[in-house]
Amino acid sequence: MSADRDFDVVVIGAGLGGLECAFILASEGKKVVVLEQNSQLGGSLQVFSRNKRLFDTGVHYLGGLAPGQNLHRYFSYFGIMDKLKLHRMDPDGFDRISFDGDPTDYPIAQGYENFVQQLLPHFPREERALRRYIADIRDTCDRFPLYYLRYAEHNELEDPALLINARDHIASLTQDVKLRAVLGGNNVLHGGRGDRTPFYMHALVLNTYIESAWRCVDGGVAIAKHLAQQARAQGATILNRKRVVALETDGKGACRAHFGW
Ligand SMILES: Cc1cc2nc3c(=O)[nH]c(=O)nc-3n(C[C@H](O)[C@H](O)[C@H](O)COP(=O)(O)OP(=O)(O)OC[C@H]3O[C@@H](n4cnc5c(N)ncnc54)[C@H](O)[C@@H]3O)c2cc1C
Repeated sequence: MSADRDFDVVVIGAGLGGLECAFILASEGKKVVVLEQNSQLGGSLQVFSRNKRLFDTGVHYLGGLAPGQNLHRYFSYFGIMDKLKLHRMDPDGFDRISFDGDPTDYPIAQGYENFVQQLLPHFPREERALRRYIADIRDTCDRFPLYYLRYAEHNELEDPALLINARDHIASLTQDVKLRAVLGGNNVLHGGRGDRTPFYMHALVLNTYIESAWRCVDGGVAIAKHLAQQARAQGATILNRKRVVALETDGKGACRAHFGW
């Protein structure tokens, strides 16, 4: 890099991904530097405040943080699980889907059975569809071993059945147009497009929240703060206000990163 210090690895960006990479590589004995262009670390975990209230810019709730669930296992590995102040969201409706001209809020609940039970009063004839939806979500996630931190050699995305889009899959479960909209209502969270986003992506996102849904009491930036501390404890160097503007390579693997504004 231009400050003429040598590292084995330069990580560009101190978002969730960059900080996790830094932690892992530093724990494996690599000399790591993270260069972050902003003054605040965290990328989409950053927060801002207005009138003494904290607002998340990106990550505002998390799934899978109960013991044994996937994010709990990841965050335990990174040594931050017991450092986060978490608030469990309403078990009977961590999200509520609403429509113009319809006074009902349709709850998206935590727990597979509870998910069905909370929507059933609104769609009394659709129990079969609701149960199939949950079964499909679970089956789909089960086909992604890494999602559950299980080792596997196969590439699940080679299965064309997994590429069916979310809208068609949900439509295949029920003729009820409103239920279709409720089940697909969360897709806006991850910028999902009904005709393009595959059902598996919808399933992987939704499943974590159905397993359990949480808010960080001190905002998502707490994750970045504690991750950065843990990465530094492993020996990583993390520098803010360093925007990487150019990378130079000798063609053999060695690389210089130039930062500036
Ligand atoms: C609006 C929004 C809402 C979201 N809500 C949720 C949610 O509620 N729950 C959830 O689980 N997920 C949510 N997500 C997804 C989640 O935020 C991301 O999956 C995750 O934070 C991405 O982390 P990242 O490290 O890949 O990228 P980022 O967080 O984007 O981090 C990239 C970092 O790289 C830095 N960078 C980029 N270029 C350079 C450069 N040239 N030099 C130096 N630094 C550079 C950036 O400043 C940034 O800090 C949301 C995402 C968005 C955008």
